[in-house]
Amino acid sequence: MTFRYERSYRGPIRAVILDWAGTTMDFGCQAPALVYVEVFRHAGVPISIAEARAPMGAHKRDHLQAITEMEDVRRRWTEAHGRPPEEADIDLMYAEFVPLQVACLSEHSELIPGTLEAIETCRERGYRIGTTTGYTREMMEVNLADAARQGYAPDATVCASDVPVGRPLPFMCLKAAIDLEVSPLAACVKVDDTPTGIEEGLNAGMWTVGFAVSGNEVGLTRAEWTALSEAEQEVPRARAADRMWRAGAHEVVDSIRDLIPCLDAIEGRLARGEKP
Ligand SMILES: [Mg+2]
Repeated sequence: MTFRYERSYRGPIRAVILDWAGTTMDFGCQAPALVYVEVFRHAGVPISIAEARAPMGAHKRDHLQAITEMEDVRRRWTEAHGRPPEEADIDLMYAEFVPLQVACLSEHSELIPGTLEAIETCRERGYRIGTTTGYTREMMEVNLADAARQGYAPDATVCASDVPVGRPLPFMCLKAAIDLEVSPLAACVKVDDTPTGIEEGLNAGMWTVGFAVSGNEVGLTRAEWTALSEAEQEVPRARAADRMWRAGAHEVVDSIRDLIPCLDAIEGRLARGEKP
């Protein structure tokens, strides 16, 4: 055949699929980071907050395992325990992690400024609102209730514990699209504060928007961030944004306050026949 015919979706966005911690809630993604530090301290192998944050976005047990696989942590573990960490150690730490995490979620469940306004605009435009998260269902019950109290109630929520494998595999995003009854996947935008969450969206064939400042990559509370001068904010912002761009995000901005212009840009690209 001389010609090859190709189909491209040129319609509007139909769904926005948002992450939780660091994206719509818990500025700086504090809740999980603090609990990882606590659990490793109990295990006799203190870790830094940077080590605790590095695998953020994954299922919480996968995240624990990823920390134990860091060369430096492994070395310190072996020094402390006379052997490298084993499956049973991870099971034990995860068993300790879950109740500690559930207990402190509500201390960090304030919505990130701009969330309600962005969701309202999305709803006016007819976008469905889905969410995915590295939290398990048990943890999400707490966050969902706290979010609803503040006026945020997404149409669908998929947890890492609802699918066979969490991020960066696309299964949570795909399940969210099914739960929302939205097609094609190119009409969906995945929004996240971690590189692994951006990969999740890309692996699902969706558009992606990364938040550099409000989430795990800068890792400061809102009070800590706003206490910095503009000049002091420049380096951490640029470093975090660079990580999100390198993960393949289509748009990178500071926080959910800047989401709507990103969605406008993506609709422009869709109208021109571009694909995610
Ligand atoms: Mg997050």
